[in-house]
Amino acid sequence: MAVLQIITGANTPVLRKKTEIIPKVTKEIKKLIKDMKETVPAEKGAGLAAPQVGVSLRLSICMLDGKYEAIINPKILWKSEETTIDEEGCLSLPNIWLNIKRHNEIILNYLDEKGKTHEKKYSGFDARVIQHEVDHLDGVLIVDY
Ligand code: ZN
Repeated sequence: MAVLQIITGANTPVLRKKTEIIPKVTKEIKKLIKDMKETVPAEKGAGLAAPQVGVSLRLSICMLDGKYEAIINPKILWKSEETTIDEEGCLSLPNIWLNIKRHNEIILNYLDEKGKTHEKKYSGFDARVIQHEVDHLDGVLIVDY
């Protein structure tokens, strides 16, 4: 069991870098996922991206349908035209809450922690969490909106 330290700061380099694709879900990646899954609830977050624990890889944990799921190499294939503005926070930006416009629905392509490919539609809160966490993988933070 390991709760990882969250990296904070809007100008911290690892939070601003575009992350690298994960070619294979190795034992090390599975260990990182396990640790990240233990870290998000400890920090009371809805999601956590690998750069937030200092790892520049395309991996995030998202609260989806009430459960923490790993999304590896996520790609948003489609976004609905309809958007909603809602308040968002970020574990890397303590005490900052901003109104962020997000697409109501998205179609996401990703690998799960077993290395299986999925293509799935998400809406509402799930879609918002995914858009926030995929932003992290491209070095984008809520203060950029
Ligand atoms: Zn965040």
